Amino acid sequence: MIYRNFKGQKLSQLGFGCMRFASDPETGEIDQAKVNAMFDLAIREGVNYFDTAYPYLGGKSEIAMAEALSGYPRESYYLADKFPGHSLTGPIDNIALFNVSLRKCRTDYFDFYLLHNVTEWSVQFYESEEYHIIPDLLQMKKEGKIRYFGFSCHAGPDMLDAFLTRHEGVFDFVQIQLNYLDWTMQDAKIKCDIIRKHGLGIWVMEPVRGGKLAVLPESESAKLRALRERGVGSGSGGAYASAADGGLAEPSDASYAFRFLQDLPGVTVILSGMNEVFQVEDNLRTFREENPLSDEERSVLLDIAENLKRGVPCTACRYCCDGCPMELDIPYLLQCYNDYKFATTMTPSMRIDALPEDKRPSACIGCGQCMHACPQGIDVPSALAELAEMYEKGPHWGDVVAQRAKSIEEDLK
Ligand code: SF4
Ligand code: SF4
Repeated sequence: MIYRNFKGQKLSQLGFGCMRFASDPETGEIDQAKVNAMFDLAIREGVNYFDTAYPYLGGKSEIAMAEALSGYPRESYYLADKFPGHSLTGPIDNIALFNVSLRKCRTDYFDFYLLHNVTEWSVQFYESEEYHIIPDLLQMKKEGKIRYFGFSCHAGPDMLDAFLTRHEGVFDFVQIQLNYLDWTMQDAKIKCDIIRKHGLGIWVMEPVRGGKLAVLPESESAKLRALRERGVGSGSGGAYASAADGGLAEPSDASYAFRFLQDLPGVTVILSGMNEVFQVEDNLRTFREENPLSDEERSVLLDIAENLKRGVPCTACRYCCDGCPMELDIPYLLQCYNDYKFATTMTPSMRIDALPEDKRPSACIGCGQCMHACPQGIDVPSALAELAEMYEKGPHWGDVVAQRAKSIEEDLK
């Protein structure tokens, strides 16, 4: 197992993300036997980092994780959990909710504790004096109930930098969505530079983009196969298990996505939300030993990323912005557009929610000024009209929050 040293702690670089456990589609009950088997295998092979969050799997992830870890000494693994400040509809007793998570996880401290999902929208709650979230959690840290404090973040680079600057010295690490597609699509490369500039550890979520980089379209997967056939890079053999060992006959598409991240400076833990034993086995093979990508493999992955993007080729040069009569942040909106086009997730919806109504895509009057300024020839008004439609259709973060707020209320009764 590859380990990374973080402030004297020896963390397995492969972290077990507990947001995707297999469950019965009708009852929603988690397949605990399968979770136990996956954990036993992962722990046997050296994984020591487990990450959950209060709302994962309707509140059942914390419980299932605790059950699967119950046979292991508490000091033999690192536990990470998250505070759902992004799911609140008003101030609550933060310490009481923190204690609910401790109880569900059957522990009296968290090694790593994060503000969950800091974005342009949720930052107002996390920084609200009335909500008092950060001071309360810092008190928990002072009392030894949190060892390292961090936050997960889906915000753009500017907000990330501003948030870290406002809270210099408060956080130990930042968890971002990082993979070879988002390296450019969600400015993950720039975000890594920002986190390093603030001297913090980088934790990775969505390393295979919700599975999309684990099973590439055949035309893209063939490019990786061709590399192997030419013997390019360490993915061509070496430490990889053979079919005779009971493993896959050749490196999976997912293994390349993980190897893209392994030797990036500052990357400490890479979380994988595993829900099948074969995924655990495949990831364990990938993280068995350092196996950095060759330059050619890296460049093929970045080329695959460009082919996977389905949106517009906005370079964020901002040439279009000065002439926009509605003063829209066009590159910001086009980044949301590209995100929607790749996969329907909550992130672009939350980022648009954070804008005042007159700065949302529906505010575009279609004057076409921006098109004349754009060196990439992007049809901005059409993209914004489509974005406005996709945003209207949802899903909407506000609906999710309303549901989650109810379960928080129940837990605090
Ligand atoms: S078309 Fe829309 S985005 Fe472009 S300049 Fe006009 S109002 Fe702004
Ligand atoms: S001018 Fe074109 S490429 Fe530049 S920010 Fe505007 S839309 Fe993007």
